[in-house]
Amino acid sequence: MAALRMRDLPALHRLLATAEIEELAGRYPRERVRDALREVLGDLRRRLERGEAVPADAIAPAAVAGETRRRLDYLDQGLRQVINATGVVLHTNLGRAPLAPSAARAAALAGGGYSDLEFDRESGRRGSRQDHLEGLLCRLTGAPAALVVNNNAAAVFLVLRTLAAGRETVLSRGELVEIGGSFRIPDVMRESGSILREVGTTNRTHLKDYEQAIGPDTAALLRVHPSNFRQIGFTARVEGEEIAALAHRLGVLFLEDLGSGALVPFGDEPTVSEVLSSGADVVTMSGDKLLGGPQAGIVLGREDLVAQLRRAPLYRAMRPDKMTIAALAETLRLYLMDGFDAVPALRMLQASEEALKAVARRLRARLRRAGVTCELVPLAGRAGGGSLPETTLPSWGVALIAQDLEAFHRRLRLGRPSVVGRIEDGRLLLDVRTVLPGEEQELAQAVAAAYALNA
Ligand SMILES: *Cc1c(COP(=O)(O)O)cnc(C)c1O
Repeated sequence: MAALRMRDLPALHRLLATAEIEELAGRYPRERVRDALREVLGDLRRRLERGEAVPADAIAPAAVAGETRRRLDYLDQGLRQVINATGVVLHTNLGRAPLAPSAARAAALAGGGYSDLEFDRESGRRGSRQDHLEGLLCRLTGAPAALVVNNNAAAVFLVLRTLAAGRETVLSRGELVEIGGSFRIPDVMRESGSILREVGTTNRTHLKDYEQAIGPDTAALLRVHPSNFRQIGFTARVEGEEIAALAHRLGVLFLEDLGSGALVPFGDEPTVSEVLSSGADVVTMSGDKLLGGPQAGIVLGREDLVAQLRRAPLYRAMRPDKMTIAALAETLRLYLMDGFDAVPALRMLQASEEALKAVARRLRARLRRAGVTCELVPLAGRAGGGSLPETTLPSWGVALIAQDLEAFHRRLRLGRPSVVGRIEDGRLLLDVRTVLPGEEQELAQAVAAAYALNA
């Protein structure tokens, strides 16, 4: 095939006149089509300048229009809906917790209009955005005070920076964890300006290790939830109560980063209320893990300490926006007034095997009616989001086979809506635990469409 030369590159106005580009101009503003086309030509020119052998058909109208459309579609789309058929409930890559419909509506209302975000309607004066959340959080957890920031990483950073900068924070070597997405406790500690004082060993840390490390420079004892892994075998971790008693006897703070932070019991996980009543002065947790709300970092604890955090200049850089506040307030209201079953992530985590099997049967029936060969299969889902790492959630779903499974899965991912499952033992598995109630039909249609192209 002949390679392209610089002088073969067509002029912009010639391309603009082709039927293929005309068709794009029917869907997008002409100026945007022109921009995209200019970019496509610019890229071809740079490749030629670098001496790359560009095939001549790269300038065929269909090829140029195809690339131009790809660029315009990219600019036009934003986030796309994904049907999560992975069985991982708090899938960080897929946005962690899906909000309750009423929480999503609350966020949309707050975003699409004005609200009393920082306005006291009684006096007509300025109010606090935290007031919408603090009462709910204190009621649900028993905490004396609460503060919400953008995510838990920010919460941990704010707490260390404000309460322990320039002084030592004592931490067990078993808790020098990396959470993922580059959140590593030693790094966060260094950035915060607090001096990390490691105690104990990787597998065993005792109360006397903490005790011996406390001195005039100690600001706090920190406990970090080893969210995404478990230690088994010859291990020892000191109970929160004991650390709290020691901290308070020697006049230092006890901080606890819970990570997931459950408001209701899950397996062996202590609830946030239990952690607070065991004596932690400040507890931090995520809004979008086991709580099932929007991305947020929640700080709970002693009134004087929370007040100090709220006054810190750094807080201003971390304050949550109105849509987050609206969604979180509604999620918390659901816990309080409707029960935690109204929160989708919690419902998914607690869904019974029988209920899931019934959904999987319905999916299989829909798929078979659409001509898709599939089978009902028992599966094991996970909580995800660094929560409950050792717990598998017995689940149900359907298994499909295809000539080229990777290509089939890719087609599903690129469809509308996008569908993400997982490939295991030569089959594509779709776990229904994480499929939302309203998505069943769309899922079946999307799978049938990709399957038809697959043959
Ligand atoms: C997940 C997690 C974080 C980070 O929380 P984000 O809300 O993702 O910022 C911090 N600490 C622990 C222990 C975690 O599990």
